Amino acid sequence: MMRMYLDKPFVEWTTEEREKYLMEQYKAMLEAEKRLNAFITLRSVEEIEKEFHVASGPLKGLLLPVKDNISTKGILTTCASKMLSNYKPPYNAHVVDVLLRVGAVVVGKTNMDEFAMGNTGETSFYGPTRNPWDIDRVPGGSSSGSAVAVAWRGLMALGSDTGGSIRQPAGYTGILGLKPTYGMVSRYGLVSYAESLEQIGPLARYSRDLAMLYYYLTEPDERDITMANGVERKMMREKLMRIAMDEVDRQRAMEDTIIAYPSRLVDEADESIQNKFYDALEFLRELGCYIEDVDADFLRASLAAYYIIAMVEASSNLARYDGSNYGYRIDAYTYWDMVGRSRIDGFGEEVKRRIIMGGFASSKGYEGRYYIRSLKVRRWIKNNLLNILSRYRFLALPTSPVMPPKLGEVAGPEGYVQDIYTVIPNLTGHPAISIPIGFVEGLPLGIQFIGRYYDEPGLILLARVLEGKLYDPNNVPGGD
Ligand code: GLN
Repeated sequence: MMRMYLDKPFVEWTTEEREKYLMEQYKAMLEAEKRLNAFITLRSVEEIEKEFHVASGPLKGLLLPVKDNISTKGILTTCASKMLSNYKPPYNAHVVDVLLRVGAVVVGKTNMDEFAMGNTGETSFYGPTRNPWDIDRVPGGSSSGSAVAVAWRGLMALGSDTGGSIRQPAGYTGILGLKPTYGMVSRYGLVSYAESLEQIGPLARYSRDLAMLYYYLTEPDERDITMANGVERKMMREKLMRIAMDEVDRQRAMEDTIIAYPSRLVDEADESIQNKFYDALEFLRELGCYIEDVDADFLRASLAAYYIIAMVEASSNLARYDGSNYGYRIDAYTYWDMVGRSRIDGFGEEVKRRIIMGGFASSKGYEGRYYIRSLKVRRWIKNNLLNILSRYRFLALPTSPVMPPKLGEVAGPEGYVQDIYTVIPNLTGHPAISIPIGFVEGLPLGIQFIGRYYDEPGLILLARVLEGKLYDPNNVPGGD
């Protein structure tokens, strides 16, 4: 009874249900905050009720958790860092403006790895987020709180994905997470970590809701000059709306689809993950897909190239936090003393490590050995992947090579290898999705599909096809 509102996707809720379920949604978010530390800022019931009553549009009644690196006017946006612990943006991110316009209410700002650097949710200045399926384990990151808020008893949330930050926590918590084609979603108002790699994107329980939320995220915006413009957007949005409205033939959607998987790379994953991964592919084969092993060993170069590029961009982006304009400051007698002390005290260990490494990898005399070489590797990987995706519609990989680790079990660079599969489409700009495919010893896991540019509808259709078959969207941690 208690979670009747999760029985069907939000897109099917009637006007009465949207009003009726508002407080149930809020109660769930409050629990996610208290038990699992999913929120840095949770707004008050009064604020939410007030905004709900003046809201109008297709998303009216949706309480939306927003990752804390996405700007919200007048609401703390800390990036889970002491450096921005007092920062309230004077403007909304483009995506927030769009979602408010169609009736959603921002319920709060979710916990994350500091400045989105990490994959466990543990580098937050506000303490780690916990995995609702086992509170001694991490929920993944960096969009830890957004994933947990949905997995606990939520419907949809916003995250950002630089190297897996939407897909990996979605996999670790048993929900859907989509990384858009680069340039499909405006980054205006997203606090930059590594801007050539990252996109804002949706997390959701149901595939139809994922399509609906993503439809709104792709509204064009002139303020982000890296936005792709062309007919692809319009065509894609029409398809998204059709999926949201359930105007697709689920039975036939995947017939004759050719899917590749690189078995030698899949070998790197834990055996229990490999088994589930191949079961999922087998299920797709029975639906009429062609599944073929491909050689994609070039992808092994992804992780190193990703980390060098991400760190170089981070070291430049984070130079703006100097204590002088906004954010955290330690007063001192000289300017440089103020800057130095504010940065030493305001940033956490992982963030400082990346600033130092990124500065080094791009410094004069070394840039050719590290940064520029990484850019060449990136181009080479992209060309090879384009070649594969010209012959196959999707490339399948596990979302993560491991199951969610225990809190405190992996620290710093040791954990970077968890990202081997997720960083690939960030380097190349392709869209990718993580879809739950069941459980291993009580913990959820995901399969990742990388698609052709602008084929987000195809990726969401895969989720639509697997939904209720390989995973049950109505299943929540801890039962009722
Ligand atoms: N784990 C990766 C990193 O730390 C990806 C994080 C992200 O996507 N924001 O860079």
